[in-house]
Amino acid sequence: MPFYSLPVWVGSHKQFSNSLCEKSQIFFKMQAGLNKMKWFVAIGLIAVIVAMGCISNPQPTGQNHSMAIATTFFPLQDLTKKIVGDTAEVFSIVPSGIEPHDYEPSPQEFVSFQNARAFITMGLEFEHLEGEFIESRSAPITVIHAEKGIVLLDGDEEHEHEHEEEHMEEHAHEEEHEEEHTGKDPHIWLSPKNMQVMAQNISAGLMNAFPDNATLYEQNTQQLIANLMQLDQEYAQGLSQCNKDIVLVSHNAFSYLANDYGFQTIHISGLEPESEPTPDQIRELVDAAKEHDLKYIFYEELVDPRVSNAIAQEVGAQTLELNPAEGSSNPDEDYFSIMRENLNHLKLALECS
Ligand SMILES: [Zn+2]
Repeated sequence: MPFYSLPVWVGSHKQFSNSLCEKSQIFFKMQAGLNKMKWFVAIGLIAVIVAMGCISNPQPTGQNHSMAIATTFFPLQDLTKKIVGDTAEVFSIVPSGIEPHDYEPSPQEFVSFQNARAFITMGLEFEHLEGEFIESRSAPITVIHAEKGIVLLDGDEEHEHEHEEEHMEEHAHEEEHEEEHTGKDPHIWLSPKNMQVMAQNISAGLMNAFPDNATLYEQNTQQLIANLMQLDQEYAQGLSQCNKDIVLVSHNAFSYLANDYGFQTIHISGLEPESEPTPDQIRELVDAAKEHDLKYIFYEELVDPRVSNAIAQEVGAQTLELNPAEGSSNPDEDYFSIMRENLNHLKLALECS
């Protein structure tokens, strides 16, 4: 094989570099009797190899990803990473730190996922994204549905619809998006109990698709489920003795969590964070906050906090973050750290002892 005809490579940049290293070493061995001009070319080539990192920057251990797995967004990416460990590189189609509800990737953005061998999704709200992703691929892919077996709550369609009419002219495109809704609340990952089911679904799908890694996936899943059960316990205990039973949240993402641990939520916007409340609805929210004597109004990192701030100011409350774990701009954060911080903030707002 001539040196320049490299195979089409499925894997990470590091592996590609290492493969190139091996090929160039063979190349040098074969070129025993080089003339001066060829040596000049060879020295140039060494400089390129060093620049690509195979001599000065050896491949770190634990980064030997032999395959790629795509997921739709942060919670699925985080769960999948914990199951596959170092056996795969796990991507999220919605980039980190982006609010995923209305995210529309360009066809170019799908190119980086062409090598993925499995795709983890939960359909629901993000099904438009799932369809576009699968259509964009030139090869078939194993699709794993994380939401299988979870009882879905109904969405608040009426509430969404009122907002739609208010903003019909400015947001004509949103109406098209609304039609894609399943009418179900997609925020299943905010219940640690649901996350256990999702982890089992992802794990079973991956073990089936990649039986060579099944033992490792099984071990990692058992640990993950144990950690999710521990988180569930912390919530059950932490929220068991509280003076209040209602919180005011940014968008309507926390119904599964609230159902699990016995509190209620009032929300500024509906299932979609983009649906803004009308002045009348803001007045109702202010009245409700006063009626329940709320000391904290929740906001979200990835959503404009102006309405939360305005309500807090109006009722003399403080603002506090409650994170729906839909995306993360902090690489040190994972589902567990987000949920533990949420628990601390809920204990404050619900006045738990
Ligand atoms: Zn949401």
